[in-house]
Amino acid sequence: MYPSLSLYIAGEFIEADRPLQEVLNPADGQVIGHLPHALPADLDRALDSAERAFEGWRRSSPVERSDLLRRAAALARERAPQIAHGITLDQGKPLAEALREVHSSAEHLEWHAEEARRIYGRVIPARQAEVRQTVTLEPVGVCAAFTPWNYPLSQAVKKVAAAIGAGCSLILKGAEESPSAVVALARLFHDAGLPPGVLNIVWGEPAQVSDYLIRSPIVRKVSFTGSVPVGKQLAALAGQYLKRTTFELGGHSPVLVFNDADVELAAQQLARFKVLNAGQVCISPTRFFVQEAVYERFLETFTSTLAGVRVGSGLEATSDMGPLVSQRRLHASLRLIEDARDRGAHVLLGGERLGPQGNFLAPTVLTELPVDAAILHEEPFAPIAPVIRFRDPAEAIRSANSLPFGLAAYVFTHSLRQANHATAALEAGMVGVNHFGIALPETPFGGIKDSGIGSEGGSETFDGYLVRKYVSQL
Ligand code: NAD
Repeated sequence: MYPSLSLYIAGEFIEADRPLQEVLNPADGQVIGHLPHALPADLDRALDSAERAFEGWRRSSPVERSDLLRRAAALARERAPQIAHGITLDQGKPLAEALREVHSSAEHLEWHAEEARRIYGRVIPARQAEVRQTVTLEPVGVCAAFTPWNYPLSQAVKKVAAAIGAGCSLILKGAEESPSAVVALARLFHDAGLPPGVLNIVWGEPAQVSDYLIRSPIVRKVSFTGSVPVGKQLAALAGQYLKRTTFELGGHSPVLVFNDADVELAAQQLARFKVLNAGQVCISPTRFFVQEAVYERFLETFTSTLAGVRVGSGLEATSDMGPLVSQRRLHASLRLIEDARDRGAHVLLGGERLGPQGNFLAPTVLTELPVDAAILHEEPFAPIAPVIRFRDPAEAIRSANSLPFGLAAYVFTHSLRQANHATAALEAGMVGVNHFGIALPETPFGGIKDSGIGSEGGSETFDGYLVRKYVSQL
């Protein structure tokens, strides 16, 4: 039922004679597959094939690249049920969410197919009539990309579509926890007719693979989505070799619910958004600041909506929320709850593991938190909601901005003035007002401060994969 896993190098799927890593089903802890790790010779071959393929791919026409991305998108939609099933098995999210991930990945491919035809340069009027001054955009070269386990397909698609659409070749290491979607992605491009070597997939010990690839003189660009600490390590290494970078890192997204918000609606929507992918979403709301006049009403609706969330295996149609991806993440989440409890916080809902097997955590609501509770500083990446009462909007904005993160922020209010003031004052790369529509193919996705460098999606999506060339011709 679970697909076979492989490396993909120079257009070949490689499974045999490699060290194997077990892949576990987070819903029951059972081994569902074996992932082959790349040998050093495989990494060299991936680098070599990406370098050779770049020479041809950089000269492909935008229309050719666009057609290829479109064919990959069509195959993704065709194979959506199988790909989604693999995601639910190794990552844990409910099947309906996994299907949405596949279709949104297809949409990202389609968006990149459209935008790839619009990578324009410009002509700059010269000081002399005989001189012609042009600026062209060229692909940066071979890219190394590292993607996380929470949205194994869509996070990989963003990097692969941008690199391929820009005319780059790349080596991608997905997350070893949930690898099936990345292997499926390689199959999509293989079957769509991508020339061998333009896309290569490797697996291994993350730090060893990233270290090897980033140090290689063949690699010109590094793109990473994952946690802030790992992002900083990779940024330091990339800086040592002056590689171009894109980083999509963690967040700790504040939500400000003002007295004049439609509080019941906000509470219901926030509860449902909170349990999406069991809270393992980088833009998940993680610090809930609620103004005092609506605090009690908010808590009541928010907690009762969360209490109704059905937790279970993602394969069961009745499950609204699946398990956390790993035992490691479950223990990290329980540690945050314990820390809050020890410091005097009130556990209004949940707070414990569910069931004897699998990595299930009950949706959890924490209140009366002291400012030094770890969860108010560390990103929970779990279905845990710390709710904080505030009186003065300025104080809530100060608290919201007090962390080094700056990914997403949300505001719930019916006052235009309040909304304008908050969106201007919040230190975040993306702000949602009265809804969560901030992650679409046509809009730029990215953070400020420690949450990242650069953005993916939107008309900016190719920026990180292109370099400028200025030509002055007499
Ligand atoms: P982690 O720091 O242990 O690992 C994050 C990811 O980076 C994993 O997929 C891991 O395989 C990979 N990784 C680790 N070391 C690496 C290295 N040296 N080189 C290349 N890749 C490496 O974090 P975690 O506990 O797995 O995940 C939780 C944290 O990750 C969250 O707090 C969240 O901030 C972050 N995260 C962010 C996103 C996002 O979309 N921005 C996605 C997933 C995870």
